[in-house]
Amino acid sequence: MRVFVIGSGAREHALVWKLDQSPRVEKIYVAPGNPGMTPYAERVSINMNQLQELATFAEQQQIDLTIVGPEVPLIDGIVDLFRERGLRIFGPDRAGAALEGSKAFTKELLLSAGIPSARHQTFHSYAEAKAYLEQHGAPIVLKADGNAAGKGAIVALDLETAQDALKQMMVDRIFGVAGDTVVLEDYLQGDEIGATAICNGTHFLPLLLSQDHKRALDHDQGLNTGGMGVFTPLPFVNKTQEAEIYEQVVLATLKALQARDITFTGVLYSNIMLTAQGPMVIEHNTRFGDPETQAFMLLLKEDLLNVLGFVDGEEVDVQNLWYPGSAVSLTLAAGGYPGNYQSGLPITGIEEANKLENVQVFHAGTALKDGQLVTAGGRVLSIAARGDTLQEAVDRVYEAATYIHFEGMHYRKDIAHRGLAVRK
Ligand code: AMP
Repeated sequence: MRVFVIGSGAREHALVWKLDQSPRVEKIYVAPGNPGMTPYAERVSINMNQLQELATFAEQQQIDLTIVGPEVPLIDGIVDLFRERGLRIFGPDRAGAALEGSKAFTKELLLSAGIPSARHQTFHSYAEAKAYLEQHGAPIVLKADGNAAGKGAIVALDLETAQDALKQMMVDRIFGVAGDTVVLEDYLQGDEIGATAICNGTHFLPLLLSQDHKRALDHDQGLNTGGMGVFTPLPFVNKTQEAEIYEQVVLATLKALQARDITFTGVLYSNIMLTAQGPMVIEHNTRFGDPETQAFMLLLKEDLLNVLGFVDGEEVDVQNLWYPGSAVSLTLAAGGYPGNYQSGLPITGIEEANKLENVQVFHAGTALKDGQLVTAGGRVLSIAARGDTLQEAVDRVYEAATYIHFEGMHYRKDIAHRGLAVRK
């Protein structure tokens, strides 16, 4: 098969790395990709927002399957466009991707289907939102309705922070048009987890439960980021609870969409808070997680193409999907991230780190400058490792990090701490 991957981050690097191991894959193209992918894939310089150009490329190169990494092209309708042109593509259409693209749509869907999530109100007017906020009080969570690249949600523990955030969203418009509609929702307390599944409209193939570390600094301090590291599976959720989570969240969401004539195909990756009242949906994402995917790909034993083929009714051997053990991913970030950071700094040590057993370094924000690998983003690299135990995976990922260097590099030292605290 000739496969075309769209995206340029560590998630796409991990997908390409895994696809390259498939005996069914003859050639991989990636647009626009990153320098880490060149051993396995040919890079194509088309941007992710050039949907027509991407489709034309797929046609010309007789691509058998296109896989979309990031959410933006999905929300913009890349799947609808490819399908209109008779091209096979993995991911939800525009109607399905609205689950990620519009928080207001999702909240309304969850509520009408009785799927537990935080109580909320949607506002288009600043005055009305402000009045509600003052009456509700803190803690409260404010969310810009449109897609704001994972940074559109603000958890305000006191009223003043909430008021400032509301003004920034609706008056100063720090998230642009995404902040013209704001959702205010109750603060949920509990353990936050991710549940990822591949869906074919009516059925789902559960992948793994995982836990991300969103805050920039150890002990969940600092600002929210795109994700600083993940571990999977979760030792504090048993099989029965896991099955309930998938049924109550994933299956229920698919059914609610079906009731609206939306056939959801592709990845559903749900953020869920395990509250004292049971699992509650924080948000739905309609693509693979980043950095979840990096950990998943290390642990995936089955051919990724077969797994993705679930959407087309391919049989998948569920018992044999994963290697035993655990996997961890760790984000190596630029100094200053998620605030301002410098780019163009030389990176060394990746080859040495990759020599470690069951370790793979994936590129996120890197570039080549005069033949030298340099930093080119906030999240620069993502190291993933697998181990027979969670402790072994954690040890490997941190050992690998000691080989890598670029000026200002920082990473969290406590990835998987909630998992390691579980003693069986
Ligand atoms: P979102 O953009 O909806 O994923 O929100 C970003 C992050 O904010 C989530 O990963 C949670 O850590 C946190 N968050 C979102 N909604 C809530 C909520 N209702 N209660 C507590 N924390 C939340």
